[in-house]
Amino acid sequence: MKTMSNSPLICYTRISPNSSPRYEQITKITPHYMAGNCSIETCGEIFAPTSRQASSNYGIGSDGRIAMYCPENRRSWCSSSNWNDQKAVTIEVANVTADGYITEAAWNALVDLCVDICQRNGIPSLVWTGDKYGSLTCHYMFADTSCPGQYLKGRMGLLADVVNARLNPVEEPEPIIWRPGMQPDFGVNGSDVFRLYNPFTGDHIWTTSTNERDGLKKMGWDNEGTAWQNLYPMPVYRIFNPFTGEHLFTTSLNECNTLRDNGWQYEGVVDLGAREPNDCPVYRLYDGTFHMFTTSDNERNALIANGWTDEGIAWYQLAA
Ligand SMILES: [Zn+2]
Repeated sequence: MKTMSNSPLICYTRISPNSSPRYEQITKITPHYMAGNCSIETCGEIFAPTSRQASSNYGIGSDGRIAMYCPENRRSWCSSSNWNDQKAVTIEVANVTADGYITEAAWNALVDLCVDICQRNGIPSLVWTGDKYGSLTCHYMFADTSCPGQYLKGRMGLLADVVNARLNPVEEPEPIIWRPGMQPDFGVNGSDVFRLYNPFTGDHIWTTSTNERDGLKKMGWDNEGTAWQNLYPMPVYRIFNPFTGEHLFTTSLNECNTLRDNGWQYEGVVDLGAREPNDCPVYRLYDGTFHMFTTSDNERNALIANGWTDEGIAWYQLAA
Protein backbone atom coordinates (compact mmCIF):
# COMPACT_ATOMS: atom_id res chain seq x y z
CA MET A 1 0.00 0.00 0.00
CA LYS A 2 1.10 3.55 -0.77
CA THR A 3 2.76 5.33 2.15
CA MET A 4 0.31 7.73 3.70
CA SER A 5 1.09 11.30 4.61
CA ASN A 6 -0.87 13.97 6.46
CA SER A 7 -2.10 17.36 5.32
CA PRO A 8 0.34 20.29 5.59
CA LEU A 9 -2.73 22.55 5.95
CA ILE A 10 -3.31 21.73 9.63
CA CYS A 11 -2.57 24.32 12.30
CA TYR A 12 -3.62 22.25 15.34
CA THR A 13 -3.17 18.58 16.28
CA ARG A 14 -4.82 16.63 19.05
CA ILE A 15 -4.65 12.90 18.43
CA SER A 16 -7.75 11.01 19.53
CA PRO A 17 -7.35 7.51 21.02
CA ASN A 18 -10.50 6.48 19.12
CA SER A 19 -9.17 4.99 15.87
CA SER A 20 -8.01 1.70 14.30
CA PRO A 21 -5.32 0.75 11.81
CA ARG A 22 -6.20 1.48 8.18
CA TYR A 23 -5.89 -1.55 5.87
CA GLU A 24 -7.15 0.03 2.65
CA GLN A 25 -5.95 2.66 0.18
CA ILE A 26 -7.61 6.08 0.55
CA THR A 27 -10.14 6.49 -2.28
CA LYS A 28 -12.92 8.53 -0.64
CA ILE A 29 -13.58 11.72 1.29
CA THR A 30 -16.47 11.99 3.75
CA PRO A 31 -17.39 15.49 4.98
CA HIS A 32 -19.47 15.59 8.18
CA TYR A 33 -20.93 18.42 10.18
CA MET A 34 -20.22 18.88 13.87
CA ALA A 35 -23.93 19.49 14.62
CA GLY A 36 -22.71 22.67 16.26
CA ASN A 37 -20.41 25.62 15.76
CA CYS A 38 -17.40 24.15 17.62
CA SER A 39 -13.85 25.42 17.37
CA ILE A 40 -11.25 22.89 16.24
CA GLU A 41 -9.92 22.83 19.83
CA THR A 42 -13.37 22.02 21.27
CA CYS A 43 -13.88 19.29 18.68
CA GLY A 44 -10.48 17.83 19.67
CA GLU A 45 -11.59 17.92 23.31
CA ILE A 46 -14.80 16.03 22.41
CA PHE A 47 -12.79 13.26 20.66
CA ALA A 48 -10.22 12.99 23.49
CA PRO A 49 -11.91 10.61 25.98
CA THR A 50 -11.95 6.89 25.06
CA SER A 51 -15.53 6.79 26.37
CA ARG A 52 -16.58 8.98 23.45
CA GLN A 53 -15.87 6.18 20.91
CA ALA A 54 -15.74 8.71 18.06
CA SER A 55 -13.21 10.66 15.99
CA SER A 56 -12.48 12.06 12.55
CA ASN A 57 -9.26 12.47 10.58
CA TYR A 58 -9.65 16.25 10.31
CA GLY A 59 -11.79 19.08 11.63
CA ILE A 60 -12.54 22.54 10.18
CA GLY A 61 -13.73 25.49 12.26
CA SER A 62 -15.96 28.36 11.12
CA ASP A 63 -12.78 30.49 11.05
CA GLY A 64 -11.35 28.20 8.34
CA ARG A 65 -8.62 26.68 10.53
CA ILE A 66 -7.94 22.95 10.05
CA ALA A 67 -7.04 20.39 12.76
CA MET A 68 -5.96 16.75 12.70
CA TYR A 69 -7.40 14.22 15.18
CA CYS A 70 -6.35 10.97 13.44
CA PRO A 71 -3.39 10.61 11.04
CA GLU A 72 -4.45 9.43 7.58
CA ASN A 73 -2.88 6.00 8.17
CA ARG A 74 -5.52 5.46 10.90
CA ARG A 75 -9.16 4.59 10.28
CA SER A 76 -11.30 7.13 12.12
CA TRP A 77 -14.50 6.19 13.95
CA CYS A 78 -16.69 8.65 12.15
CA SER A 79 -19.25 7.45 9.57
CA SER A 80 -20.84 4.40 11.32
CA SER A 81 -19.24 2.19 8.65
CA ASN A 82 -15.96 0.28 8.69
CA TRP A 83 -16.42 -0.27 4.92
CA ASN A 84 -16.46 3.50 4.32
CA ASP A 85 -14.00 4.70 6.93
CA GLN A 86 -11.32 2.19 5.84
CA LYS A 87 -11.39 3.93 2.43
CA ALA A 88 -12.22 7.49 3.50
CA VAL A 89 -10.57 10.52 4.96
CA THR A 90 -13.24 11.95 7.27
CA ILE A 91 -13.66 15.67 7.94
CA GLU A 92 -15.83 17.29 10.62
CA VAL A 93 -16.93 20.81 9.61
CA ALA A 94 -18.38 23.33 12.06
CA ASN A 95 -21.91 24.39 11.11
CA VAL A 96 -23.53 27.71 11.98
CA THR A 97 -27.24 26.84 11.68
CA ALA A 98 -29.24 23.70 12.43
CA ASP A 99 -29.67 22.85 8.74
CA GLY A 100 -25.90 22.78 8.39
CA TYR A 101 -24.96 26.16 6.91
CA ILE A 102 -21.17 26.57 7.02
CA THR A 103 -19.17 29.79 6.67
CA GLU A 104 -17.37 30.80 3.49
CA ALA A 105 -14.05 30.41 5.36
CA ALA A 106 -14.99 26.84 6.34
CA TRP A 107 -16.11 26.09 2.78
CA ASN A 108 -12.85 27.39 1.30
CA ALA A 109 -10.83 25.34 3.83
CA LEU A 110 -12.90 22.25 2.95
CA VAL A 111 -12.13 22.77 -0.75
CA ASP A 112 -8.40 23.28 -0.04
CA LEU A 113 -8.25 20.19 2.18
CA CYS A 114 -10.09 18.00 -0.37
CA VAL A 115 -7.70 19.14 -3.15
CA ASP A 116 -4.73 18.34 -0.91
CA ILE A 117 -6.09 14.90 0.07
CA CYS A 118 -6.73 14.01 -3.59
CA GLN A 119 -3.26 15.15 -4.69
CA ARG A 120 -1.35 13.33 -1.94
CA ASN A 121 -3.36 10.10 -2.28
CA GLY A 122 -3.52 9.95 -6.10
CA ILE A 123 -7.30 10.45 -6.33
CA PRO A 124 -7.71 11.86 -9.90
CA SER A 125 -11.09 13.52 -9.30
CA LEU A 126 -13.98 13.54 -6.84
CA VAL A 127 -17.17 11.86 -8.02
CA TRP A 128 -20.52 12.65 -6.36
CA THR A 129 -23.06 9.98 -7.29
CA GLY A 130 -25.46 10.59 -4.39
CA ASP A 131 -24.80 7.09 -3.06
CA LYS A 132 -21.98 5.32 -1.18
CA TYR A 133 -20.20 4.22 -4.38
CA GLY A 134 -18.97 7.70 -5.33
CA SER A 135 -15.63 8.98 -4.06
CA LEU A 136 -17.50 11.65 -2.08
CA THR A 137 -19.72 10.05 0.58
CA CYS A 138 -21.85 11.19 3.52
CA HIS A 139 -22.68 9.85 6.97
CA TYR A 140 -26.44 9.55 6.25
CA MET A 141 -25.68 6.85 3.67
CA PHE A 142 -24.60 4.51 6.49
CA ALA A 143 -26.73 5.47 9.49
CA ASP A 144 -29.99 7.15 10.43
CA THR A 145 -28.54 10.65 10.79
CA SER A 146 -29.08 14.10 9.26
CA CYS A 147 -25.26 14.54 8.96
CA PRO A 148 -23.89 16.54 7.10
CA GLY A 149 -27.12 18.62 7.14
CA GLN A 150 -29.33 19.81 4.28
CA TYR A 151 -27.03 22.69 3.33
CA LEU A 152 -23.79 20.76 2.94
CA LYS A 153 -25.61 17.77 1.44
CA GLY A 154 -27.00 20.08 -1.28
CA ARG A 155 -23.48 21.31 -2.07
CA MET A 156 -21.75 17.94 -2.52
CA GLY A 157 -21.99 18.11 -6.34
CA LEU A 158 -20.62 21.64 -6.20
CA LEU A 159 -17.78 20.49 -3.92
CA ALA A 160 -16.81 17.84 -6.49
CA ASP A 161 -16.94 20.43 -9.31
CA VAL A 162 -14.82 22.97 -7.46
CA VAL A 163 -12.21 20.44 -6.32
CA ASN A 164 -12.01 18.89 -9.80
CA ALA A 165 -11.51 22.33 -11.39
CA ARG A 166 -8.53 22.81 -9.05
CA LEU A 167 -7.14 19.31 -9.72
CA ASN A 168 -7.39 19.71 -13.51
CA PRO A 169 -7.08 23.44 -14.26
CA VAL A 170 -8.01 24.81 -17.68
CA GLU A 171 -5.42 26.76 -19.67
CA GLU A 172 -5.26 30.56 -19.75
CA PRO A 173 -7.90 32.19 -21.95
CA GLU A 174 -6.78 33.59 -25.30
CA PRO A 175 -8.24 36.94 -26.35
CA ILE A 176 -11.17 36.43 -28.73
CA ILE A 177 -10.59 38.48 -31.86
CA TRP A 178 -13.02 38.46 -34.74
CA ARG A 179 -14.27 40.88 -37.38
CA PRO A 180 -17.60 41.19 -39.20
CA GLY A 181 -17.55 39.07 -42.33
CA MET A 182 -15.11 36.53 -40.89
CA GLN A 183 -16.10 32.95 -41.65
CA PRO A 184 -17.54 31.02 -38.71
CA ASP A 185 -14.69 28.88 -37.40
CA PHE A 186 -15.83 27.83 -33.98
CA GLY A 187 -18.38 25.27 -32.83
CA VAL A 188 -21.06 23.50 -34.81
CA ASN A 189 -23.37 25.52 -37.07
CA GLY A 190 -27.02 25.35 -36.11
CA SER A 191 -26.54 23.46 -32.85
CA ASP A 192 -29.05 23.98 -30.06
CA VAL A 193 -28.05 25.88 -26.93
CA PHE A 194 -29.59 23.96 -24.01
CA ARG A 195 -30.57 25.66 -20.76
CA LEU A 196 -30.47 23.72 -17.48
CA TYR A 197 -31.24 24.69 -13.87
CA ASN A 198 -29.63 23.48 -10.65
CA PRO A 199 -32.37 23.41 -7.97
CA PHE A 200 -29.77 23.08 -5.16
CA THR A 201 -27.75 26.23 -5.91
CA GLY A 202 -30.16 28.23 -8.13
CA ASP A 203 -27.66 28.37 -10.99
CA HIS A 204 -28.51 28.20 -14.70
CA ILE A 205 -26.13 26.86 -17.32
CA TRP A 206 -26.17 27.17 -21.11
CA THR A 207 -24.39 24.53 -23.17
CA THR A 208 -24.31 23.14 -26.70
CA SER A 209 -22.88 19.83 -25.48
CA THR A 210 -25.41 16.99 -25.33
CA ASN A 211 -22.89 15.08 -23.19
CA GLU A 212 -22.77 17.87 -20.61
CA ARG A 213 -26.56 18.29 -20.77
CA ASP A 214 -27.15 14.57 -20.14
CA GLY A 215 -24.49 14.42 -17.41
CA LEU A 216 -26.04 17.38 -15.57
CA LYS A 217 -29.52 15.82 -15.86
CA LYS A 218 -28.21 12.67 -14.17
CA MET A 219 -26.81 14.82 -11.35
CA GLY A 220 -30.25 16.34 -10.70
CA TRP A 221 -30.28 19.46 -12.92
CA ASP A 222 -33.61 20.29 -14.61
CA ASN A 223 -33.51 20.46 -18.40
CA GLU A 224 -35.31 23.68 -19.38
CA GLY A 225 -35.10 22.99 -23.11
CA THR A 226 -33.52 24.78 -26.06
CA ALA A 227 -32.78 28.43 -25.29
CA TRP A 228 -31.74 29.37 -28.83
CA GLN A 229 -29.70 28.12 -31.78
CA ASN A 230 -26.30 29.33 -32.83
CA LEU A 231 -26.21 29.43 -36.61
CA TYR A 232 -22.98 31.40 -36.76
CA PRO A 233 -21.22 30.41 -33.55
CA MET A 234 -19.19 33.02 -31.69
CA PRO A 235 -17.05 32.13 -28.69
CA VAL A 236 -18.02 33.20 -25.18
CA TYR A 237 -15.91 32.80 -22.02
CA ARG A 238 -17.35 30.60 -19.31
CA ILE A 239 -16.27 31.25 -15.70
CA PHE A 240 -17.36 29.69 -12.41
CA ASN A 241 -17.87 31.10 -8.92
CA PRO A 242 -16.74 28.37 -6.47
CA PHE A 243 -18.74 29.78 -3.55
CA THR A 244 -22.17 30.52 -5.06
CA GLY A 245 -21.92 27.84 -7.74
CA GLU A 246 -22.77 30.27 -10.52
CA HIS A 247 -21.60 29.77 -14.10
CA LEU A 248 -21.27 33.13 -15.88
CA PHE A 249 -20.90 33.70 -19.62
CA THR A 250 -19.24 36.78 -21.06
CA THR A 251 -17.67 37.92 -24.33
CA SER A 252 -15.41 40.33 -22.39
CA LEU A 253 -11.89 39.07 -21.64
CA ASN A 254 -11.58 42.00 -19.21
CA GLU A 255 -14.58 40.88 -17.19
CA CYS A 256 -13.35 37.29 -17.35
CA ASN A 257 -9.91 38.22 -16.00
CA THR A 258 -11.25 40.63 -13.34
CA LEU A 259 -13.50 37.89 -11.98
CA ARG A 260 -10.60 35.39 -12.06
CA ASP A 261 -8.57 37.84 -9.95
CA ASN A 262 -11.49 37.68 -7.49
CA GLY A 263 -11.40 33.89 -7.16
CA TRP A 264 -13.59 32.77 -10.06
CA GLN A 265 -12.34 29.80 -12.09
CA TYR A 266 -11.91 29.92 -15.86
CA GLU A 267 -13.71 26.99 -17.50
CA GLY A 268 -12.94 27.61 -21.14
CA VAL A 269 -14.61 28.96 -24.26
CA VAL A 270 -18.09 27.89 -25.34
CA ASP A 271 -19.84 28.66 -28.61
CA LEU A 272 -23.04 30.31 -27.41
CA GLY A 273 -23.03 33.54 -29.37
CA ALA A 274 -23.73 34.46 -33.00
CA ARG A 275 -21.65 36.64 -35.33
CA GLU A 276 -24.44 37.97 -37.56
CA PRO A 277 -25.16 41.61 -36.73
CA ASN A 278 -28.91 41.34 -37.37
CA ASP A 279 -29.60 38.52 -34.96
CA CYS A 280 -31.79 39.05 -31.92
CA PRO A 281 -30.14 40.19 -28.68
CA VAL A 282 -29.37 37.93 -25.73
CA TYR A 283 -30.23 40.00 -22.64
CA ARG A 284 -28.25 39.69 -19.44
CA LEU A 285 -29.98 40.20 -16.07
CA TYR A 286 -28.78 39.98 -12.46
CA ASP A 287 -30.64 39.27 -9.20
CA GLY A 288 -27.72 40.08 -6.86
CA THR A 289 -26.48 36.47 -6.83
CA PHE A 290 -27.06 34.92 -10.23
CA HIS A 291 -27.06 36.10 -13.83
CA MET A 292 -29.71 35.10 -16.36
CA PHE A 293 -29.44 35.12 -20.14
CA THR A 294 -32.51 35.14 -22.33
CA THR A 295 -33.63 36.03 -25.86
CA SER A 296 -37.25 36.30 -24.71
CA ASP A 297 -38.69 39.80 -24.20
CA ASN A 298 -41.44 38.28 -22.05
CA GLU A 299 -39.02 36.54 -19.73
CA ARG A 300 -36.80 39.62 -19.55
CA ASN A 301 -39.75 41.87 -18.63
CA ALA A 302 -41.03 39.38 -16.04
CA LEU A 303 -37.59 39.23 -14.38
CA ILE A 304 -37.28 43.03 -14.31
CA ALA A 305 -40.77 43.20 -12.73
CA ASN A 306 -39.46 40.76 -10.09
CA GLY A 307 -36.56 43.04 -9.15
CA TRP A 308 -33.81 41.77 -11.47
CA THR A 309 -31.37 44.36 -12.80
CA ASP A 310 -31.21 44.73 -16.57
CA GLU A 311 -27.52 44.49 -17.53
CA GLY A 312 -28.11 45.08 -21.22
CA ILE A 313 -27.24 42.98 -24.27
CA ALA A 314 -24.65 40.25 -23.66
CA TRP A 315 -24.31 39.27 -27.31
CA TYR A 316 -26.48 38.62 -30.37
CA GLN A 317 -28.15 35.41 -31.23
CA LEU A 318 -30.63 33.56 -33.44
CA ALA A 319 -33.79 32.78 -31.48
CA ALA A 320 -34.89 29.15 -31.20
ZN1 LIG B 1 -21.39 12.61 10.68
